[in-house]
Amino acid sequence: MDASDREMENFRQEVRAFLSDAITPEVRMRARRQAGIAAEPSLGVWWLKVLNSKGWAAPAWPVEYGGPGWDAVQRHIFEEETARAGAPTLWPSGLQLLGPVVMRFGTPEQKAAFLPKILNGEHYWAQGFSEPGSGSDLASLKTQAVRDGDCYVVNGTKIWTSHAHWANWLFLLVRTSTAGSKRDGITFLVTPADAPGITVQPIISMSGEHETNQVFFDNVRIPVANRIGEEGQGWEIAKYLLEFERGGSYAAGAQGYLDEARENAMLPDPVTGERLWDDPCFRRRFADAQLRVTAQRWTEKRVVAALSSGQNVGDALASILKTRGTECQQASYEVAVAALGELGMADQRDALVPGSNTPAIGPESAVRATARHLNGRAATIYGGSNEIQRNILFRFIASGQVP
Ligand SMILES: Cc1cc2nc3c(=O)[nH]c(=O)nc-3n(C[C@H](O)[C@H](O)[C@H](O)COP(=O)(O)OP(=O)(O)OC[C@H]3O[C@@H](n4cnc5c(N)ncnc54)[C@H](O)[C@@H]3O)c2cc1C
Repeated sequence: MDASDREMENFRQEVRAFLSDAITPEVRMRARRQAGIAAEPSLGVWWLKVLNSKGWAAPAWPVEYGGPGWDAVQRHIFEEETARAGAPTLWPSGLQLLGPVVMRFGTPEQKAAFLPKILNGEHYWAQGFSEPGSGSDLASLKTQAVRDGDCYVVNGTKIWTSHAHWANWLFLLVRTSTAGSKRDGITFLVTPADAPGITVQPIISMSGEHETNQVFFDNVRIPVANRIGEEGQGWEIAKYLLEFERGGSYAAGAQGYLDEARENAMLPDPVTGERLWDDPCFRRRFADAQLRVTAQRWTEKRVVAALSSGQNVGDALASILKTRGTECQQASYEVAVAALGELGMADQRDALVPGSNTPAIGPESAVRATARHLNGRAATIYGGSNEIQRNILFRFIASGQVP
């Protein structure tokens, strides 16, 4: 072990010690009982505040904006350790998506107004990009913003807007011009979610959660001061933002589900005494998922090594991470359900409601397994569907740039 390995090991121990104090069994249990992509706000914002008081809320942010000044290896260790500790998953819209956009394209006033409130949880953001008919082909979006004095008047609708029912701020792409290419007429705006004319309508997913919504804009007045970047610069900003949506760490979380699956599959059936773990078909399925997760972990480590040596990993690798990462997550969720046998069929949605006293059927990990599996089906759709990521990769490969 050389000096830098020792330093990283010390860092890992420091993170682990902090997490073992902060993540009490009750917090871990609440975090485990969430089938969605992030903790609901009563838990997530609490955890954000705990991290913020330690200066660790935004590992990737520069120090000048409140980041801890970690390098890529430290950030990766932090992600691995928080997943291992079962910490609540933070809602990413402010921290990972809007924050970097404001840092790069925002005015000094916008930076001062928004960045500290993302860190302290005062602003809870939702992302209004997709529209009915404009998902993969995002540039075809129609929500219209017409300039009227020092405001834009916005009309239209956004769909699949995750956590909009909890958000107090929204960022959105609007059409300010139909002239020229459809990408040229797009502008990036932010608005309080309670502005007159905004209505949020729930969409309940097949896993039973209320995570996504359709949001309607009816003559909503958004001040020009709430425009990020220039009028017509929205497409460039959206592309920049989506780079942050596609990166990230998938393997550590997926490994947690495989570990649970192994544990459950090793339990003897209460009637027959047989173990699923001894079934070669199950073992083959488990091994297949484990190989995918291990391969993903090494890809993520390769990216971390490249980043820490100052290399730019680029769009192609972000697409590979997203595609393979979400697929290995889905494989791990499926195995976690299979490992439960018939318990996997129990409808445990009531037990997942925060504060519910509905008892778990079977082991604790059974409570969210099926809901997580169903919820996870969306991961290959949102953030740019995996088919679209494969198209992006094909373009790189066709032009001779193999990542
Ligand atoms: C759970 C969930 C949460 C979401 N949260 C948000 C959010 O918070 N904010 C937000 O703005 N959006 C959100 N989205 C929307 C998401 O970004 C879109 O669903 C996604 O971009 C796909 O768009 P679409 O649903 O319109 O499908 P479409 O674009 O209509 O695609 C339908 C199918 O056709 C395939 N397809 C489309 N075009 C091509 C092509 N050129 N080549 C090959 N295959 C193609 C797609 O891969 C997909 O399988 C969310 C979606 C889900 C499911």
